[in-house]
Amino acid sequence: MEPPNPFRQSRIEFHRQGLALVPDESERRPGVAYLIKANKRDPSRRLCSCSLSARKTCNHLLKLAEEYKALVSFLGGKIPDEVFRLSTWYQLATLLARESKEKVKSVKLQFIEKGASRIIRILGSKDQDMAFYLSPGPDAGRLIERLGQVPANAVPNRAAIIEKLAELTVTDNERFFNQRGYKTNGQIFEEHFWYLLKTFTREELIELLT
Ligand SMILES: [Zn+2]
Repeated sequence: MEPPNPFRQSRIEFHRQGLALVPDESERRPGVAYLIKANKRDPSRRLCSCSLSARKTCNHLLKLAEEYKALVSFLGGKIPDEVFRLSTWYQLATLLARESKEKVKSVKLQFIEKGASRIIRILGSKDQDMAFYLSPGPDAGRLIERLGQVPANAVPNRAAIIEKLAELTVTDNERFFNQRGYKTNGQIFEEHFWYLLKTFTREELIELLT
């Protein structure tokens, strides 16, 4: 029997070698836990936004470690970013990003009711159709959060968490350019709307229009 796909209900977000555990709103002391895996230059790092983590390993970090282990096991020993970069989703994102300048922050959403289900229409900055998102499941909510289309006072949402992961995984070379007001091609690609394809799994279906 195929093991359950941990992405399906996942509270995990990833960016490069960084992973984060999205807070559980029902918790009394929510926290966003981050795990930055070791690379050639740096050892692994773990941090959490909760107050307890300054004194001890909090439950958020323990939960993230547990989810990370299940995810890597499901992915045959690879981290999610490695799997994405080897996938057709990555090739597709690269091709689509060449033809379009739309960033995660420039797209707009419209919700279309169709019978009992709801379709999300994704429009570019000139109101052109980018995509229709058909899946009605909880993944649709995750997509909305990743696009940052949530109230400003919402608890740290997925878009904010992905931004923090980008900050935590920036390289010395990128920092050098960023301090002078430039971004590298890699960073520009990662801000692109189509780069979000990294999060799609078999359960997250998208009908491409472009
Ligand atoms: Zn914590």
